[in-house]
Amino acid sequence: MTYRISFRESRCVLCRFCEVVCALSMGDEFEPDASHIREIRGNADTAEFVCDPPEACRSEPRCVDSCDQRAIRYSEA
Ligand code: SF4
Ligand code: SF4
Repeated sequence: MTYRISFRESRCVLCRFCEVVCALSMGDEFEPDASHIREIRGNADTAEFVCDPPEACRSEPRCVDSCDQRAIRYSEA
């Protein structure tokens, strides 16, 4: 199963916690610049992409729970 991850720029406070969580989920290392989430944070008000999740995110996307601003949502892709 893949996830469609949606990101809302207007809610984001740029804490980058989601990037750390994503990078750890994908590669088990602290490398936020390599995260999937990093790729969609830009100037658009909303952005989305499809994630083929690693084992750590198979039951639910960790990036969504990591954001207390509710800037990240997901649906099944
Ligand atoms: S955790 Fe939420 S508020 Fe923080 S950078 Fe990610 S999307 Fe933005
Ligand atoms: S589902 Fe997991 S791998 Fe995919 S963007 Fe979210 S945290 Fe990163």
